[in-house]
Amino acid sequence: MIVAIDGPSGTGKSTVTERVAELSGLPHLDTGAFYRAATLAVLREGAQCDEHAVVEVVRSAGLDQRDGGMFLDGEEVSAEIRLEPVTAAVSSVAAIPEVREILVQHQRAWVSERGERAVVEGRDIGSVVFPNADVKIYLDATPEVRAERRAAQTGEQSAAVLADILRRDAFDSERAASPLMVPIGAVVIDTSEMGFDEVVAEVMRHIEAKV
Ligand code: C5P
Repeated sequence: MIVAIDGPSGTGKSTVTERVAELSGLPHLDTGAFYRAATLAVLREGAQCDEHAVVEVVRSAGLDQRDGGMFLDGEEVSAEIRLEPVTAAVSSVAAIPEVREILVQHQRAWVSERGERAVVEGRDIGSVVFPNADVKIYLDATPEVRAERRAAQTGEQSAAVLADILRRDAFDSERAASPLMVPIGAVVIDTSEMGFDEVVAEVMRHIEAKV
């Protein structure tokens, strides 16, 4: 059973996916953490200005996700990959087709090692990584609601968060390589006016319908 959960940032995707994984007993794969850890490797090597160098750094980076944490060359980097330098650079690293090919291979191997059982969250899961996923969900919300949610979490100003969200949305949706889109066959859930438990229950309903 593979459950694909896509959507832009600030829709509650990560917390919903985590809870759905707990309830369904499926392993949870956060593909955004792979893009973030790959970006951290690039920043540490100072390779961000040269696309060829970026690809080589990502190719040789030891990337692993286990016990809910993200590891780069054996070091846990779960906290560092959420900081501003990585957040500012990740979309441009993720727009490089060769980077995506490398990370998609990692993600498919991760799920294969777990017997093709996982809840996988990202931007291109139902469209590219697992187009044959058993359940495809696309979580959405208005940019304003997404900005408010993130500001409440991080304590940032919601106007600044909104600007960042709009910038990343545009970048992720307009890139040529695997843009953010509603995958064919996905159930779209607009979470703008829904509570967390309601969203989880709705996703679980779609999973249970397939079991
Ligand atoms: O989900 P998260 O916000 O951590 O993802 C960080 C960035 O990684 C996204 O803004 C996007 O540029 C990229 N990403 C992607 N494809 C995925 C997951 C994340 O391009 N499947």
